[in-house]
Amino acid sequence: MTQIAETGPVHGGGVLTVDLDAIAANYSILAGHAPGCEAAAAVKADGYGLGLGPVARTLWAAGCRSFFVATADEGIALRALLNQATIAVLSGLIAAPLGLFREYRLLPVLNDLGQVATWAQYCRDTGTLPAALHLDTGMARLGLTPAETATLAAEPNRLDGFDLRWIVSHLACADQPEHPLNAVQHDAFAGALARLKPAPASLAASSGIFLGPDWHFDMVRPGAALYGLAPQAGRPNPMRPVVQLQVKILQIRDVDTPQTVGYGAAHRFAVPARVATVAAGYADGCLRSLSGRGTAHIGDIAVPLVGRVSMDLMTLDVTQAPAARPGDMIDLIGPNQDVDALAARAGTIGYEILTALGRRYRRRYLGGGAS
Ligand SMILES: *Cc1c(COP(=O)(O)O)cnc(C)c1O
Repeated sequence: MTQIAETGPVHGGGVLTVDLDAIAANYSILAGHAPGCEAAAAVKADGYGLGLGPVARTLWAAGCRSFFVATADEGIALRALLNQATIAVLSGLIAAPLGLFREYRLLPVLNDLGQVATWAQYCRDTGTLPAALHLDTGMARLGLTPAETATLAAEPNRLDGFDLRWIVSHLACADQPEHPLNAVQHDAFAGALARLKPAPASLAASSGIFLGPDWHFDMVRPGAALYGLAPQAGRPNPMRPVVQLQVKILQIRDVDTPQTVGYGAAHRFAVPARVATVAAGYADGCLRSLSGRGTAHIGDIAVPLVGRVSMDLMTLDVTQAPAARPGDMIDLIGPNQDVDALAARAGTIGYEILTALGRRYRRRYLGGGAS
């Protein structure tokens, strides 16, 4: 029997269901695509909005031993959950006092030569500790610039004093397999590795895993695909769906013409219709850009959003679902519309939908890691 654990508001308007067994299955699928490599996991932003505790415990039980978070605070929260895990902090040394990395056994991902020098000195003073090195190979975001990497190749003793656990880089366009920047970044990374002190290397996140074995190096570090998002745009999604979002109908009314609905009178009914008002809005992560573009489902019946998304409410044209009643739940994310499809309607990506999921939903966790 599937284990279920529930948390969060009891009398809210929505229920967010997170299938932890699907996350575990996705971890196995991804690890299986990169045989011989370590499979780490990105659990930043509260496990991509799904809850750090249940997500991290599930991944640990599935065999994951290394975790990437964005901030030291996230690392400290994860340390309380997983005492034995390796926890890497992507934002580097700027974001927290050095002592925290030692106290909570967090592994900083060093992003420039200044951080390399600071960490090396700190380790010479207080005892050796691990760190990862992040090389920028084409994102112009975090990581050593090519010039800094060249300096480090010429002066390897800058790394003396700490344990260089990993060398990582990050792909800008991995979700588009044909994009020429993938090969450019791959070759820049491989070239840098050949010149630097040897260490296990990692380039691929979710999408990069599907570029093929040349991109796997020693460790892959998926996030999004673990949570069911499609790793490659426009291709069949090999991941199991993880999230379901249901929202309660608060009220239903018949509208005659002429009648408009919601703020700005943005939608005008041309023919008489039935309108359901449901209990979620942009404060719950139903992005306002879904106004006039989103769709929900009642069973298999598609019901379009009409008018603007407001803070706590949305309005749906349920004329085609005459059985709908106040108190019934509509599906916003479910079998008929996955996270990526909802994101496309909102003009964004699944990552933003997941990490924006609101705090007012009842959360139901299904599966082994639930309790
Ligand atoms: C977020 C992140 C990941 C995971 O990326 P996904 O696309 O979610 O798989 C891996 N590495 C770095 C540096 C990241 O910032």
